[in-house]
Amino acid sequence: MSLTDRLDEAVAARREDLIALTQDLIRIPTLNPPGDNYLEICEYLDRRLGASGFQTELVRAYGAPGDSDKHPRWNIVARREGAYPGECVHFNSHIDVVEVGRGWTTDPFGGELKDGKIYGRGACDMKGGLAASIIAAEAFLAVCPDFAGAIEISGTADEESGGFGGVAYLAEKGFFSPERVQHVIIPEPLNKDRICLGHRGVWWAEIETHGEIAHGSMPFLGDCAVRHMGAVVAEMETSLFPALAQKRTDMPVVPDGAKQSTLNINSIHGGENEQEDDYTGLPAPCVPDSCRMVIDRRFLIEEDIDEVREEVMQILRTVAERRATFSYDVTELHRVLPTMTEKSAPVVQVVAKAIADTMGREAEYVVSPGTYDQKHIDRIGKLKNCIAYGPGILDLAHKPDEYVGVDDMLDSARVMGRSLIALLARD
Ligand SMILES: [Zn+2]
Repeated sequence: MSLTDRLDEAVAARREDLIALTQDLIRIPTLNPPGDNYLEICEYLDRRLGASGFQTELVRAYGAPGDSDKHPRWNIVARREGAYPGECVHFNSHIDVVEVGRGWTTDPFGGELKDGKIYGRGACDMKGGLAASIIAAEAFLAVCPDFAGAIEISGTADEESGGFGGVAYLAEKGFFSPERVQHVIIPEPLNKDRICLGHRGVWWAEIETHGEIAHGSMPFLGDCAVRHMGAVVAEMETSLFPALAQKRTDMPVVPDGAKQSTLNINSIHGGENEQEDDYTGLPAPCVPDSCRMVIDRRFLIEEDIDEVREEVMQILRTVAERRATFSYDVTELHRVLPTMTEKSAPVVQVVAKAIADTMGREAEYVVSPGTYDQKHIDRIGKLKNCIAYGPGILDLAHKPDEYVGVDDMLDSARVMGRSLIALLARD
């Protein structure tokens, strides 16, 4: 029997184990924010991977955003050395999940198995992917104990809130340096036959318009910052949004609507602060002297971040020409450059072949509309040989009644296991 046949058998034999592992992970509610139970899930993974012969390290991201004694940012990195020198394949999964939200018909932390699907917050994004990678590694070790190189599996904090207490911290500490790790697979839910090469860029900024406070019955004695902001929004509608729709990318971004530049207005706040719900009084009549808008601009690999910023500045200058008292500030809040791994990169080639061999159809290449931890591995770790590949269905992420299919996890575990054979087995 060939090595890949034996691997397929070893994965299939672990079906019940895979289900139980996924359920256990879902039952540890690692909500972020605030960042609950990171230590508990890291200790669980420590026991599991320690029993499979991995050396483990628990790493707290001291001082990272969000880290506190009440909500410490714990991460785990597990490494299993092979019998011979070689390259290291790293599977990175985030261990945090987003808030539950409304509309669930199952217990979000119950891990219920129904009709071949496991339900729960994080089932799809991405505890199912983490479980599949562990099963893949364990099945590979069972059939190929004398491999060359090393396998690493990490469970990291805070991906949902930017990854600063997780992958970014580990990358700063050298865990993703090209000397240590040569191939990275992030089992994010991108569908089991798709390889995600990277993501678009992000530019977040806050625009503030200034005015002058006065009595609301005599607005002509003040200067309304909200009207100034209204002019900014109107100018965006007439010139910026149509221009963004014209910018198309050659990146294979999914879904289709994200193949262009986009801009979201996250929030606008102007004038008096809103009172608590239990306040029963009326608002006071004042002309707003400040209005703040947060924008979320997603940009393409063909665009330059300075041009992205300049477009917004141009809108503001245009408005300023028309409005005598217009004054404003722009504060950059966050920036991430787009990243896209080459299709010729070794990890892409190997996983694409494993998908074709396992599922009998060619892999599809995609790029994510939003960012994920690849950004830190690329920019801080300087590691370009990185993809996202995992079993969950992308559209279910963050939704009520999120689930992961058991067969999907098994299929993707076979793909991951075959990739390990291609990269680490000695022939
Ligand atoms: Zn995710």
